Amino acid sequence: MSKQVSKYTFFESVSHNFDRAAVYTGLNKGVLSQINSCNSVYRMKFPVRMGEGLNDVEVFEAYRVQHSNHRSPCKGGIRFSMDVNQDEVMALAALMSYKCAIVNVPFGGAKGGIKIDTNKYTEQELERVTRRYTSELVRKNFIGPGIDVPAPDYGTGAREMSWIADTYMAMNNGEIDGLGCVTGKPVTQGGVRGRKEATGLGVFYGIKELCRNKKWMDKVGLSTGVEGKTVVVQGLGNVGYHSAKFFRESGAKIIAIAEYNGSIYNPDGLNEEEVHQHRIKTGSIIDFPGAQNLSNNDEALEMECDILIPAALESVITEENAGRIKAKIIAEAANGPVTVEADKILNDKGVVIVPDIYLNAGGVTVSYFEWLKNLSHVRYGRMEKRFMENSNRGLLDHIDKVTGTKATEDLMDKLAQGPEEVDLVYSGLEETMISSLNDILDTLDKHEDLTSLRTAAFALAIKKIGLAYLELGVFP
Ligand code: NAD
Repeated sequence: MSKQVSKYTFFESVSHNFDRAAVYTGLNKGVLSQINSCNSVYRMKFPVRMGEGLNDVEVFEAYRVQHSNHRSPCKGGIRFSMDVNQDEVMALAALMSYKCAIVNVPFGGAKGGIKIDTNKYTEQELERVTRRYTSELVRKNFIGPGIDVPAPDYGTGAREMSWIADTYMAMNNGEIDGLGCVTGKPVTQGGVRGRKEATGLGVFYGIKELCRNKKWMDKVGLSTGVEGKTVVVQGLGNVGYHSAKFFRESGAKIIAIAEYNGSIYNPDGLNEEEVHQHRIKTGSIIDFPGAQNLSNNDEALEMECDILIPAALESVITEENAGRIKAKIIAEAANGPVTVEADKILNDKGVVIVPDIYLNAGGVTVSYFEWLKNLSHVRYGRMEKRFMENSNRGLLDHIDKVTGTKATEDLMDKLAQGPEEVDLVYSGLEETMISSLNDILDTLDKHEDLTSLRTAAFALAIKKIGLAYLELGVFP
């Protein structure tokens, strides 16, 4: 965010969290310093023709940062926002390295961004900017299925990813794995089913697993399970919308939604899809039928609730408002929503913060599945679906014969069903989020003085990256 709300810049705050966790890793200073550093920073300016005339040119500032190359390729989203700057992209690239390590996705961390107000441009103009940015990356060897693989982030989605893929393919004609140069593509252009909702679904799986844990729920005075929990969501974009959807579908109540231009509240629960449709129609979420408008964004953040999901931008919970936060659990769907100072205040108050480097890793996990699909050139489930259906049906027929029962055709179809691509993606994501949370909790249990999930998650990630560097023998 442009306003300075912490004594630390965003990258300094990531480094601060790194330093706090490094002492638990047993790695030496040199290795730690390599892990903490950003390996390459590419800052570019490029012109794009914006009007009809030959002279109607606008110059854009953009970045691609590769934080770590202990695994190849490196990976991270591309952000379109007026707040994009070098420090922000470096911080987000660093978070990507730790995120990939936590969820065992074999990538280094990277991030990109263009300083642009997307509302000011037509779709055609945005396409020109995106294609030009991609060609700059190609020219400097900062993109490719084995080099660096972008994905969507704030302000971008499947549309931008398809422009990137197309530009890359045009400049690398005949590269058989070319589609793997970017993830988050539309399914019709090499994407994978389940990627769009992956980050929000990962947020849901992660919190659901935490809510199953009685020890952690006792800590915050909540019962186990997601059902009946009250939830506040900040940012109804890709991540916020899908987080809200999965929580609501599991019986939680979305009592408030905050957007940059207004916030709404309904103690009986809001339906994110209806709010989204209202926003499309009116341009804002305010005046949503049946809901009460809130005076500002902070009123939603500071509302009494079980789970607060910041899903917009960094540094929204600061030293200034942390003391007024009443949520029991903060689910960091956005990257870096809590400043260093706020983190301390909230931890001292006993609020459980589930950190970004774990909780929003669902996106990169499913991006990994998409990349593997692109390299293998086959849809998930294509080989085994029919085989599994036939063998399940054989087993069910046998049970019917032995027990003398007769299942209805409907039940038979349901039980025999082989997995579709989306089933496999969801299942792989759920397993990843559950096992990674338990790895973090194990790390925490190993150190008596460790209480913060963030520090435990950083320690786990740093250790994994450190060991990878040492095993690779990359130090001359
Ligand atoms: P998005 O552009 O789809 O949506 C962001 C939403 O936040 C928009 O609706 C925007 O209007 C709203 N917003 C902006 N400023 C706000 C404010 N001050 N208060 C309330 N709402 C505000 O972006 P996204 O992809 O959903 O990303 C959101 C966050 O999640 C970012 O921090 C991003 O880095 C992180 N993230 C995204 C992904 C992904 O797969 N898209 C993966 C991991 C992390």
